[in-house]
Amino acid sequence: MKRFLWILCLSCSISICSWAAEEIQTVVIHAGNLLAIPGESPAQQQSIILRDNRIDAVVDGYVDPASLPGQVELVDLSDKFVLPGLIDMHVHMLSEISPSSRNDALYITTSMSAMRGVYYAGITLDAGFTTVRDLGSEPEAIYALRDAINQGLVSGPTIFAAGSSLAATGGHGDVDGYIPELLEMWTPETICDGPIECRAATREAIKFGAQWIKITATGGVLSDTATGLGQQMTDDELTEIVATAHNLGIKVAAHAHGADGINAALRAGVDSIDHGTYLDQESIRLFNETGAYLVPTLLPGIKLPESMEGNPFFTDDIKDKAYAAGAAAADNIAAAYRGGVNIAFGTDSAVTPHGLNGEEFRYMVQIGITEMDAIHSATIGAATLLSQLENLGTIEAGKIADIIAVDSNPLNDITELERVSTVIKSGKLIKNL
Ligand SMILES: [Zn+2]
Repeated sequence: MKRFLWILCLSCSISICSWAAEEIQTVVIHAGNLLAIPGESPAQQQSIILRDNRIDAVVDGYVDPASLPGQVELVDLSDKFVLPGLIDMHVHMLSEISPSSRNDALYITTSMSAMRGVYYAGITLDAGFTTVRDLGSEPEAIYALRDAINQGLVSGPTIFAAGSSLAATGGHGDVDGYIPELLEMWTPETICDGPIECRAATREAIKFGAQWIKITATGGVLSDTATGLGQQMTDDELTEIVATAHNLGIKVAAHAHGADGINAALRAGVDSIDHGTYLDQESIRLFNETGAYLVPTLLPGIKLPESMEGNPFFTDDIKDKAYAAGAAAADNIAAAYRGGVNIAFGTDSAVTPHGLNGEEFRYMVQIGITEMDAIHSATIGAATLLSQLENLGTIEAGKIADIIAVDSNPLNDITELERVSTVIKSGKLIKNL
């Protein structure tokens, strides 16, 4: 015991010494064009001053680094367009669909999932996404990845993680398509039936580390069942889950395609509807009444049909749903946008490759969302939905220094956001091409 205490004391004093020796890091960024607050006009020739991981000040003109005390690093982005780090509200960071996806379950350990997650997290951050919400991953591995990134052990976006989805037995989010013995073994612990079981499942998920509750209110495109895309969790289950999560200060995201399930989830008080494929006029009314966010995820609806043929992962049941959902989404999401629904950016990356998250912007613009509103959805909109607007979403004094740059103005050509050249995460320069 004594020896243990001695080691503890020694390590304390060493780290206190190294803290004392470390000076506060100051960085000055010269931004040729700066969109500090999406929704407002960009400004020219601005300086952003960072102290450690936070933004200290944003000032007009180019500040001379020599005029500031201590060691000051200059990041010259005077020929770039600078904006806040992007936020993707719907990813699955530990996997990616491939022809071998169904067999992967037999070979990929939880540890290997975490290793894959480290790789996908790295390429996601490199693409300019400094924060993500993970809506469905193996809980132990995704929480470890989240914590390792927060501790600076590996490089990746800040992750807000939901663990595995709460879902109905036999519904989307449950395991499907294998022999009964494997179905038994692999049934996620978050499968629940009836309000009492779902209340317990919500509390369990939060106990083990979920920062969000993800529910699958309706069927899903990728479950290998012919159960459609309509409501699967019942009204009493949805209501109980939302009340339980909100009691514990945790928000709820609902995967939902069919209008019946979208509207039931909105009536239950969920904080976001993800996908929203078949939303209708009643949905738009409910979104606006409750203030819930729509996370459209247009990317898989557009990209999946291109990649399905010849890939054994996509059975006939999956293909039927994918073609129908992909065709319906654009018009309905556009109607929600015109109807004034709050929108937060999301891609469902894993269904499409990680690191290409920025492609979602071009499809948002194609259905009529303005470039500025698309950027707003991936910054202020997403930060608000995360309850993180005091830390994220804009470049203002006091916020975490998550900052990116592109070569030209994305308000003129949104595909610029597919070619992010500079990434600063929590004040640390990750990439500067
Ligand atoms: Zn998803």
